Amino acid sequence: MSYIEFKKVKKEYQMGEVVIQALNETSFEINKGELVVIVGPSGAGKTTTLNILGGMDRVSSGEVLIDNKDITKLKEKELIKYRREDIGFIFQFYNLVQNLTAKENVELAIQICKDPLPPEDVLHKVGLKDRMDNFPSQLSGGEQQRVAIARALAKNPKLLLCDEPTGALDYNTGKQILQLLQDTCRKENITVVVITHNSAIAPMADKIISFKNGKVSDIRLNEHPQSIE
Ligand code: ADP
Ligand code: ADP
Repeated sequence: MSYIEFKKVKKEYQMGEVVIQALNETSFEINKGELVVIVGPSGAGKTTTLNILGGMDRVSSGEVLIDNKDITKLKEKELIKYRREDIGFIFQFYNLVQNLTAKENVELAIQICKDPLPPEDVLHKVGLKDRMDNFPSQLSGGEQQRVAIARALAKNPKLLLCDEPTGALDYNTGKQILQLLQDTCRKENITVVVITHNSAIAPMADKIISFKNGKVSDIRLNEHPQSIE
């Protein structure tokens, strides 16, 4: 039994008279502790998939089993709980609160969490032990993304969803962020799903899922995922 089973998911958006098929009977599976990369052209349905996995969007039809529980059946309140307790999100543009320090950003995010990890510990893990009291404007792009990763990890999530986490970073800084995500996946046994255009990440993943026109066009397994260091 896979940890995630995405089964024949359809997602339609009604735009006036026009119906947009963002996902058209899309299916794939992800195992626990896997590092999965999602690739594909713009408009292929990658972000829609991530938003559905994270409980930020609902399917039009189909099933999404997470740990054998169909999240499409959850009521709004249960879905909010799922989003808060089980999922960590990483975005392209870090989304940090500018007038709070790194540590305060992490503290703010875990206020509503059931079982959070200490902010100092996660900031240490992402390599920002000495930068906890800096404001975002005092940190580089890569460091700000590390704060965002610490913020997500502090929730003690089961699943980490990353939408273009290196999209705003230069190539080498991006590689270091990917390395951090891979380390996190391996050491913490968290399942990590990353949407990326960065070709450096594909060899690091356990599984590469390609999307095209709202469908999975290819799934490749990597028997020997590389690491950068
Ligand atoms: P990708 O992440 O692969 O670029 P998306 O999942 O963002 O693709 O989008 C898939 C399709 O769904 C696109 O045609 C996009 O325009 C459409 N779409 C996504 N979100 C919305 C929305 N909120 N309203 C209408 N159409 C949307
Ligand atoms: P909730 O009602 O549980 O706060 P949200 O949809 O607001 O649900 O957020 C769910 C999780 O995703 C939270 O941890 C929140 O910090 C994060 N999140 C959602 N959207 C964004 C965003 N645009 N920028 C930063 N974090 C976000």
